[in-house]
Amino acid sequence: MDSYTIGIDLGGTNLRIAAYAPGASNQQFLARVDLPTRVGAGPASVVKEMAEAIRGLAEGLPRMELRGVGLGTPGPLELPAGILHGLPNLPGWDRFELRREFECALAGAGVRCPVHVESDANVAALAECVLGAGSALGVDSLCMLTLGTGVGNAIILGGAIFSGAHGMAGEAGHLTIWPDGVACNCGNTGCLEVYASATAVRRMAEGAADSGVAPGLKAWRESTGALDAQAVFQLARQGDRDALGIFTTVGIALGIALAGLVNTLDLRLYVVGGGLAGAWEFFSPAMLRELNTRSYVYRLVNERLTDRRIAIVPAVLGPDSGLLGAALLALGAQSREPEI
Ligand SMILES: [Zn+2]
Repeated sequence: MDSYTIGIDLGGTNLRIAAYAPGASNQQFLARVDLPTRVGAGPASVVKEMAEAIRGLAEGLPRMELRGVGLGTPGPLELPAGILHGLPNLPGWDRFELRREFECALAGAGVRCPVHVESDANVAALAECVLGAGSALGVDSLCMLTLGTGVGNAIILGGAIFSGAHGMAGEAGHLTIWPDGVACNCGNTGCLEVYASATAVRRMAEGAADSGVAPGLKAWRESTGALDAQAVFQLARQGDRDALGIFTTVGIALGIALAGLVNTLDLRLYVVGGGLAGAWEFFSPAMLRELNTRSYVYRLVNERLTDRRIAIVPAVLGPDSGLLGAALLALGAQSREPEI
């Protein structure tokens, strides 16, 4: 009997659920359901909705065996217990026992199979490793930064997610870039996230428009009423000096962070994904310049070991990478858990 897995991408806004047949064409799902995440209804209600949607998908595939369900969730996520801690975008979900509640809801819906839970950044990186930039380079390890509302991070080693001792490895979004910098939600100041996320770009653009020295940004805000990362991207494409300057700041912050990661991990592949990675052409020159200046591992390898150069690349997979990764997680192939 052919088998399949189900992946879930639980976001603060969207809930995506899809059935995936391993070995099938890379990004083709057998079936999928896209729903709004009814955050206000509370976590128990959302989990029940997920279980019902999975039962619906399974009933549509009666001649195939469901091998497992993989769930990618915003973190921090305590593993192996699968308990959520202090999610900024999901108010009311703090300390929710996601794994246990989800397993109960699945049993209640008559679905019996193994459940795997991981943070969303980790499953997106797993997909990028197995089906995206990792497979393109022929490696099974990578470090990924995801530039979205915040900055996500994940480390894949030997095809397996490196979760750390508590499930909380891969928080490089909160590496300190400038010690006396802008305050971050995590309690630190000057984190990577406050200089290299879409939220950071918007804050920097608003600040520049307020200061009166960035006429292009100010004019955009006056004509449209908003100044988000997409607006800054459009202005950069038009050659606006201040918009380009904001992406240079993004690049410098990323370069400083990557220098630390390259010096620490010595992997061959570092991937930059998320919506803001679409501005690669504007931030990557400063990022690579900063990385080259600050990381002697990067310089040594790329100058002397040229057949094994360190690659810094944009993500290959699109917005379904989290969904694909959750479905891959459910295969259980990445179950190697190093002792820490
Ligand atoms: Zn932080």
